[in-house]
Amino acid sequence: MIPIVVMGAAGRMGRAVAETLRTVPGFKLKAGVDRVARPAGWDASLLWSTDPSEVLEPGDVVIEFTGPEGATSAAEACARRRAGLVSGATGLGTDQEAALVRASKTVAILRSANFSLGILALRRALRELLSAIPDWDVEIVERHHRAKQDSPSGTALLLAADVVQARGSSASPLRHGREGRVGPRPAAEIGIHSVRGGTWVGDHAVLFAGTGESLELRHVTQDRTAFVNGALAAAEFVAKSPPGLYTLEAVLSAAAH
Ligand code: NAD
Repeated sequence: MIPIVVMGAAGRMGRAVAETLRTVPGFKLKAGVDRVARPAGWDASLLWSTDPSEVLEPGDVVIEFTGPEGATSAAEACARRRAGLVSGATGLGTDQEAALVRASKTVAILRSANFSLGILALRRALRELLSAIPDWDVEIVERHHRAKQDSPSGTALLLAADVVQARGSSASPLRHGREGRVGPRPAAEIGIHSVRGGTWVGDHAVLFAGTGESLELRHVTQDRTAFVNGALAAAEFVAKSPPGLYTLEAVLSAAAH
């Protein structure tokens, strides 16, 4: 049984992880951590804290869905207490990313801006398309619920980074929305457009526009189970891995062998 500490336990993703853990064998929900008080409905027999260091012991795995500061504090607490970390927060700055890299020298950390299997498959398809139609214009359109804090989404940035890498671009070609007389579109540009509203869980489309034709790759997350399942597979991977910074691809390759 892998002891799991859910960080961001009062939030949308944290609650979805805790709910799933009640039914999935091989894991034991040990504690919830959040900067807010224990929400109604959280099992009163389980630990609750605002500070991850208070509840962590060696061998625990933290599943974190908070925000940039929460991801950093989770990583530092995990390194101090020798616990593994699955980190899902998006919108991290360079210093916050660096804090996770530092902590990964001491413990296993798996980070992903998107834990769904479908996005992993879309990224593979994206690489194929980029080699078949390298000169077509690429635009990314993402939609999320009205409460999302960061824009563009971490997944949109991940997809854009895949395009930049495949094209071997040096300068950053990202164009965040357009307004006014911006003139003709430079060929290397990658437009990113964030739509916010309602309860969209996550929707990403990569648009390829050629001359007289276009095509789209689109992934829609209908409910958070898609992320939760990936995060639990990641937790199992982290529990048996040496210190290091891992991606979701590592989990899939381990499962294939
Ligand atoms: P949410 O706002 O519903 O929940 C976030 C929770 O984290 C809140 O309860 C908040 O109180 C808590 N929190 C924030 N900062 C904290 C801190 N420093 N210490 C302790 N608790 C803290 O948000 P959500 O929809 O659950 O998403 C959370 C994060 O996960 C966002 O960054 C989102 O973009 C990301 N996300 C990632 C994936 C993925 O697959 N990687 C999927 C969905 C959401």
